[in-house]
Amino acid sequence: MIASVPRASCSTQAPVTARFIRAAFSTLIRKAAPVLGALLIALGGTALPAQSDRPVPAGASGEAKAPGAAKAPGVPRTSAASREAAAVRVPDPYVGQLPAIALSHCAARLKAAFRSGNARDLQAAIQDVELLRRTYGTMDVLPLVEAMALVARDLGSHGDPVQGLKVLDAVERWAPRNPTLLATRVILLRHQGPKGYLLSLADTMELTRYRLTNPLDRGLWAVQHLAWLRLGITLLLWGWTLALALRYRKVFRCPLEEPLLRKGQNPHVVAIFGAIVVTLPVLAGLDPSFTAMLWLWLLAPTLQGAEVKASVLILMLQVVQPALTLVEPMASSVPIPSIVTLQQRPQALPVDAATLLKLAPADRAFLAGWRQLEFQEWAKAEATFDALAKHHPDQAEVLNNLGVARYEQGKVQGAQACFDEAATLAPGRGEILLNQSVIAYRLMDGNLGASKQEDARRLAPDVFNNILAVNLVRSDQRAFPLPLPDNPERIKALEPPPDAVEGPRGNLRDLVLLLNFGLPVLAAAAFLIRLRHSIGEAHPSQCTRCGDPFHTTDSPDPAVCSKCHHLFVLKDGLHAESRKRKVDEVGAFQASQRWLHNALTLLLPGLDKIFMGETTAGFVEFVLFCLAGAMILSTGRAVRYPGEIVQDPASVWMPMGILLTVLIYLRSWVKFLPRRG
Ligand SMILES: [Zn+2]
Repeated sequence: MIASVPRASCSTQAPVTARFIRAAFSTLIRKAAPVLGALLIALGGTALPAQSDRPVPAGASGEAKAPGAAKAPGVPRTSAASREAAAVRVPDPYVGQLPAIALSHCAARLKAAFRSGNARDLQAAIQDVELLRRTYGTMDVLPLVEAMALVARDLGSHGDPVQGLKVLDAVERWAPRNPTLLATRVILLRHQGPKGYLLSLADTMELTRYRLTNPLDRGLWAVQHLAWLRLGITLLLWGWTLALALRYRKVFRCPLEEPLLRKGQNPHVVAIFGAIVVTLPVLAGLDPSFTAMLWLWLLAPTLQGAEVKASVLILMLQVVQPALTLVEPMASSVPIPSIVTLQQRPQALPVDAATLLKLAPADRAFLAGWRQLEFQEWAKAEATFDALAKHHPDQAEVLNNLGVARYEQGKVQGAQACFDEAATLAPGRGEILLNQSVIAYRLMDGNLGASKQEDARRLAPDVFNNILAVNLVRSDQRAFPLPLPDNPERIKALEPPPDAVEGPRGNLRDLVLLLNFGLPVLAAAAFLIRLRHSIGEAHPSQCTRCGDPFHTTDSPDPAVCSKCHHLFVLKDGLHAESRKRKVDEVGAFQASQRWLHNALTLLLPGLDKIFMGETTAGFVEFVLFCLAGAMILSTGRAVRYPGEIVQDPASVWMPMGILLTVLIYLRSWVKFLPRRG
C-alpha cells in the first residue's frame, strides 16, 4: 500500500487510472486545497500559471496534473475506508507538500527557459533545481523529471523532437537511467524517422534490461512482449488443421459416415449427421481450438508420416497457452510494501497512523529521525539517532544517519567517528563509503577521499551512479543518510488490511488452468491412440486424380484409385458414357484443387504447400507466417508501467512482424509468376 501503484494489467489499466484520478482529485480538493492556496500566495502566485499550462497527456494525466498532493509518481493504493480516514484527518505538517510545490515552480521556470531558448535562463533554472534538490534529496526530484519528460514528449508530438531531446539531456542529470526518461528518449528518437529508429535501439535495449531486472516489471514485460507467442501458436493449429481438412476433404468424414451408409441409411441424413459432429465444438460454444483438435483426431488415420509428426508437435505446443496464463497474474500483482520506498519516494498521502503503529517503537523512532533529516532539523535528528544508537537492531544505518546529522551541524570529528564505526559494521555500503570520502575531503585528505570514492564506485556501482552523478557540485557536497532497510516484520506491518486486498478468485481459475494444461496432452494422446488402432484397419484413401475415397487399388501408385488407373493408364474396361462422366468428374476435382491452391498461395503462405503434400517446406513457411502475423496483431502496443507516468514505447516486435509478413507474402506471390521450362 505504501508508495506503490496497483499493478494493473493492460486490460484493467483504464479503470485503475480513472479510479486513481478520482481519488487524487478528491484528496486534493478536500485536504490539500487550503494548504495549497496559502503556499501559492506565499510564492507570489507564480506557481499558478505552471498548473494551467501543464500538458495533459492521455491516460497519464492524473499524476502530472495536480502539483503537491497528486504529482508524486508513487501513489498509495488505499482502501475506501482508509481514503476516508485520510480525508478527515487534520493536516500533518510533515505531509511533505513543500518540496513538490517548490519543484513545480522550478518546472514552470524550466519550461519557460526551454521555450525561450535562452541558454542563460536555462542555466539559472537548472541551478534553481540544484539548490532545491540538495535540500530535498535525490528521490524527491523525480516528479520534476517526470513532468519534464512529459514536456519533452509534448514537443516531440508537436513536431520538434530535437528540442524535446534537449529537455531530456538537461534533466537527465537528476535521474540517470530513469525508465521514464529512457522511454521518452526512445519515443522522441523514433519521431525522427528510420535513422532515429535505429539510434533508439540502444535505449530500447537499456530499457528492456531495466524491465527484466526489476522484479515488479518483469511479469508485465513478459505479458506485453510474449502475448504474440500465444496467438501465433493458436493460428498455427487452426491453419494446419484447415490445410489438412482441405487436402483430405473427401475422406475426412468417411470414418463417421461410411458405417451408416453401409447400414443403408439415407445419404442426406448421414451427411447432416456428419456435419453436426464436425461442428459440434463450435455449436457447443467451445473454443475453435477444440474443433481443430477434433478434426485432427478424425484425420489421424489418413495422414502421412511427416504430417503425423507435425500434428503431434503442434498439439503439444498448445501447452504454451496455459504456461503464459501463469505469467499474467505476475503482471497485475500488488507489489510488496516496502519501508525503503516509504522513506525514499515522495508520498502523495500521509502514511496511515494506524499502519505506523504496527511497526516496532524503535522503527517508528527511526522514521521520525528520517523525517527530521529531511526537514533539516539536524539537532533533533542527532538526538533521535543518538538515542537509537544503543539498542536499534540496524546499527549501521543508525550510526550513519547520526553521522549525517552531526556533519550538517559542523561536528566533523563526531561524524567521522560515526561513519567509521558504521563502515566496520557494514563494509561495502555505498552511502557510508561516500560519507567517509566527503569527510576526508573536508579534512583536506584528498587521497583518502579519492580512495573511498573509488571503493564506493567498485563495491556499490548503482548507489555511486545514482548519488554521485546527480551531485555534481563538489563544493556543496552533503552527507547521505541510509534508510531503514526492509525485513519480513516491517513488510508485514505495512501490508494493507486483509479487506483491502482482492480475494482470490478461488478454485475455478485453477480448474480452468488445469484443463488448459491437460487438453493439448489429451488431444495428442487421443490422436496417437487413434493412429495406432487404425494401422490394422482399412481406412479409405483419397485419390489424387479424382478425389474419390477408395480402399484398395490395382494401381502401383498407392494414391491413385483403381478407376483412374484403368481409365488413364490402362485405358480399358469402361463404357464410353461412364468414361465421359469420370473424365468430367476428374476435371471438376482438379479445377477445385487449383482454385484452393491459388487461394492459399495468395492468402495463407505455407498452407498451399501443405495442401499439396510438401509438408516440411510448407510447415516451416507457415510457422514463420503465424509468428509474424501474431507479432502484428497481438504485441502490446504501449504499456504504462505502474508508478510511471509515461507509456513505454511500442515494442520492436511489431515492426519486425510487419517486415517479416511482407517478405513472406512477396515470397509466396512469386509462385504466381510464369515459370520457364
Ligand atoms: Zn481416382
